[in-house]
Amino acid sequence: MTQYDQYAMQDPTTQYLKVNADGSLQPEPGLDADMRPKADHGEETYRGLGRLKGRKALITGGDSGIGAATAIAFAREGADVAICYMPEEKEDAEHILAEIEQAGVKSLALPGDIKDEAFCKEIVQKTVEAFGSIDILVNNAGKQEFEADLQKITTEKFEDTFRTNVFAMFWITKAAVPHMPAGASIINTASIQAYQPSPGLLDYASTKAAIVAFTKSLAKSLAQKGIRVNAVAPGPIWTPLQPSHGQPPEKLQEFGQNTPLGRPGQPAEVAPAYVFLASQESSYITAEVIGVTGGQHLP
Ligand code: NAD
Ligand code: MG
Repeated sequence: MTQYDQYAMQDPTTQYLKVNADGSLQPEPGLDADMRPKADHGEETYRGLGRLKGRKALITGGDSGIGAATAIAFAREGADVAICYMPEEKEDAEHILAEIEQAGVKSLALPGDIKDEAFCKEIVQKTVEAFGSIDILVNNAGKQEFEADLQKITTEKFEDTFRTNVFAMFWITKAAVPHMPAGASIINTASIQAYQPSPGLLDYASTKAAIVAFTKSLAKSLAQKGIRVNAVAPGPIWTPLQPSHGQPPEKLQEFGQNTPLGRPGQPAEVAPAYVFLASQESSYITAEVIGVTGGQHLP
């Protein structure tokens, strides 16, 4: 899906095709390399304007989907970019690390499991050692596993979702803030699910609501340090999260078609929101949540 020019004025309802996936699932975590149809991370289209020149960024889940598109955009805007991902996502990560390097900035690969607090501290430490500071922290890694039946949600699954989506964000942010100068930006990844939770995403939607509250509270406590904290809340975006048990097969086939724009979004359409929140263009914006939802607006 790279034939579209994201800058040319055009009808957003037809800018990208409806996905019409065949409903086939991948094991968790999904691989972008196995996505059919392919997702667009802006590889062919994103044009940087130097808006993040010289900044140092750490993005969790930067190997695929929204994090990958954000990594490419940040690199082309002039930032050095560290990406964290799971070791089994090496193939996807190598593709994105190469894109970062091609933009003429530094990349850093951080494979591991963010459910582990020690690893969360380590990725911050390694980023600071390699780049000197952290000017942009994007907490983006996430786990979403659909389960329609409350009785089948095990304590282990509930806990895993919270460890991945909420605890890791807490651990990484806590370790990163001492290395963040005034002007730095923290961007968390919430979801439309924080506001319009679906049955079947009980644990996931609960973590996303927690991320919204975390974002607003932290923004107020870090404001006087000159560190801004915001969130992006995507609607249905075509990423490996969805065909790796994020949705049941029957929902996957019509994924995103119930939005006012009538189609799912692509990662390349979400990344510019992160660029805006990371850059000085959003200097008076903190404690805010930007929806990128195809019209399924936040309240
Ligand atoms: P994705 O699968 O491409 O990205 C999620 C990433 O999280 C994975 O690539 C993986 O590297 C990382 N991850 C998961 N568990 C991890 C662990 N234990 N340790 C280290 N890394 C881990 O899918 P995506 O849709 O781009 O997801 C990015 C974020 O966007 C997530 O927080 C997700 O909840 C959120 N989001 C996605 C959608 C959507 O429709 N795709 C909608 C709203 C919010
Ligand atoms: Mg991935």
